[in-house]
Amino acid sequence: MKKHLRICLSGVVQGVGFRPFVYNLAHRHQLPGFVCNDDHGVQIEVEGEDDASDQFLRALIDESPPQSRIEKIEKNYLPLAYFKEFHIDESRILGSKFVQISRDLATCDDCLRELFDTEDRRYRYPFINCTNCGPRFTIVRDIPYDRSFTTMDPFWMCRECQAEYDDPTDRRFHAQPNACPVCGPRLELRSAEGDRRKAGEDDPVAAVCELLRQGKIVAVRGLGGFHLACDALNEEAVQRLRSRKYRDDKPFALMMKDVETIAEFCYINPHEEMLLKSSARPIVLLNKRKRCPVSEAVAPKYRTLGAMLPYSPLHHLLLRESGLVLVMTSGNVCDEPIACRNDEAMTRLEGIADYFLIHNRDIHIRSDDSVTRVVNGREMVLRRSRGYVPDPIKLSFSFSKPVLACGPELKNTFCLARDDLAIISHHIGDLENLETLRSFEDGISHFQKIFHTEPELIAYDLHPNYLSTRYAVGLASRRPDLVQVGVQHHHAHIVSCLAENGVSERVIGIALDGTGYGPDGAIWGGEVLLADLSSYERVGHFGYVPMPGGERAIREPWRMAVSYLYRAFGGDFIDLDIPFVRRLDRKKLNVLLRMIESGTNCPRTSSCGRLFDGVASLTGLRDRVNYEGQAAVELENLIPDPGFAMHEPYSFEIDKSDDGFIISSKSIIKQVVQDIERGSEPGIISRKFHDVLVRIFAEVVEELRVRRRINKVALSGGCFQNVYLLTHLQEMLELKGFTVYTHSRVPPNDGGVSLGQAVVANFNS
Ligand code: ZN
Ligand code: ZN
Ligand code: FE
Repeated sequence: MKKHLRICLSGVVQGVGFRPFVYNLAHRHQLPGFVCNDDHGVQIEVEGEDDASDQFLRALIDESPPQSRIEKIEKNYLPLAYFKEFHIDESRILGSKFVQISRDLATCDDCLRELFDTEDRRYRYPFINCTNCGPRFTIVRDIPYDRSFTTMDPFWMCRECQAEYDDPTDRRFHAQPNACPVCGPRLELRSAEGDRRKAGEDDPVAAVCELLRQGKIVAVRGLGGFHLACDALNEEAVQRLRSRKYRDDKPFALMMKDVETIAEFCYINPHEEMLLKSSARPIVLLNKRKRCPVSEAVAPKYRTLGAMLPYSPLHHLLLRESGLVLVMTSGNVCDEPIACRNDEAMTRLEGIADYFLIHNRDIHIRSDDSVTRVVNGREMVLRRSRGYVPDPIKLSFSFSKPVLACGPELKNTFCLARDDLAIISHHIGDLENLETLRSFEDGISHFQKIFHTEPELIAYDLHPNYLSTRYAVGLASRRPDLVQVGVQHHHAHIVSCLAENGVSERVIGIALDGTGYGPDGAIWGGEVLLADLSSYERVGHFGYVPMPGGERAIREPWRMAVSYLYRAFGGDFIDLDIPFVRRLDRKKLNVLLRMIESGTNCPRTSSCGRLFDGVASLTGLRDRVNYEGQAAVELENLIPDPGFAMHEPYSFEIDKSDDGFIISSKSIIKQVVQDIERGSEPGIISRKFHDVLVRIFAEVVEELRVRRRINKVALSGGCFQNVYLLTHLQEMLELKGFTVYTHSRVPPNDGGVSLGQAVVANFNS
């Protein structure tokens, strides 16, 4: 019997070639009807016999386009409409719910073939794309996702492009960024002085390849912003780039033409290979090979390299035609946001780049490269941005009203949530300068517009001086109807972990990081909480130590080392015969000691990050850092290879009272000093230090299980980017029979905090 079937699909089904796929499928099954986009996703109506409809439906799921992701299918039957043929209908706006906008997609294999086909009309065209690939999120100015609402608006399609765009059987049917050398965006090469290069006029790509081979630094405008590129095997060029980017010695990411090339530098397992090749094309942190030919200046003191594959046609051209391995680092100075406009890059990157490879397809929203790695066979995203955003995180509950969570101060992201979905923004950065603050504010209004969501609830960090908190409070003062909820930083960390794992019950949360505002006025950061989605109880933490000089103690770990020594030995630590004490500047030391003794400018902290800093400084790693967490990462990288002889870990002291556990740093520091006096290898000290942390938290959690009968543990906070700490603690807890939740799709660091804030706010309003 003939029936009229309506199918509603939601998920990532727009901007990924879904409608032409359905069109072709319906024709194959000879079913009349139509397909259209609506604001839930895709709507399909067909009429036919039961058999044919069933087969159609099965094929719809089995053969759906590679970049699509069907999350929900709704089916119902309607009275017969007697369709004559199958067609693609106009988009329908129903005015509710989230429309999901596709993330940016790496160049697909079909486009890549055409890119290098001398016969193709898009041969070597750096902006080739189709419905399966190309820019999306970064070019969207408004919805619906239509060319006129993207930065492709100024380009009029030529006859041939228009014909492809209108043909439902074509791979470029309704591909909004569709373009060709005749009608689309163009490259242009300029020198730092702003002249168009004679040499580069007719072939900028070839000219840039030559410049890179000569060791020049070129700013390359990409998908989400500018990169600074240079030859990664040219020691002098890499050093020059490093010194021009100022104090910043964060590791540089590398781009290589294929997985085989990456494998010459790093070890790659199948999961890592899958991530490298995924359409998100993130930077994947990989272990360096023993004899890795890359300049030490690429990632000083790191055992890992961040590598990625080319993801835009321009990258493919540059990599293949230059034959080089390229450093591709964000086009910014220090902590400013990545440059994305041409004029902005030419001013801000002046003095860093020798040349600028620019183009005229604007980037509406800047988005840094995402960074990820594989830990224990599972992905752990460290920076979630291009290629991941704006894919929503699906939750196990529905938000009672739309929420905007403003995120923390460092590694800021914000989060817009509604129904059962949370959209975490692209990486905004450290909210410490005007540029970043503007990018944060613009980002929020853009998200509200493209996701059609006006928040009724606003969540923010408890720190009154965070720019994100001030923004939230300011907004709420202008909109009295807006419900405000302040959320404690480490509670937000734990809840972000619970949310991404679909857990809603109370767990033992271990939140280890650098800095978070505590309601008692201290700086928290080594916390054990009993927490669920709405509330928490602090049941343990590191004993407070002074942070002499406040913020400065973060940039100068030697200050923390002094503070821990003072706590462990009192004023007598000056008599210790260790290199750290010998190299102390007596004048500075006296100032510091006076601060500690009088308590002036000495906030108290329970931070685990600061303990890492202090130990790193004591072992002689570094007394100053250029970014938060640097000393800790270097300390982790000192640990000798696994399989190295075990050492007896340090012993520890925990003060167990009824109000909770206070973990003492005293005995740990004393044993570190003893090892230094004995001349132990810094690597051994590092390992014993990591091991004692594992034992401490395992013991605390075990006692809590006895006292509170909770068998589930969540691990969150920036310190859990430390793979040694994370995997060893997880392993030990699992051996003891705990269920352990860790991060995967949401970063364990502050990049995940906004999700936790949104959830906590929902359960407190
Ligand atoms: Zn393509
Ligand atoms: Zn064209
Ligand atoms: Fe944090």
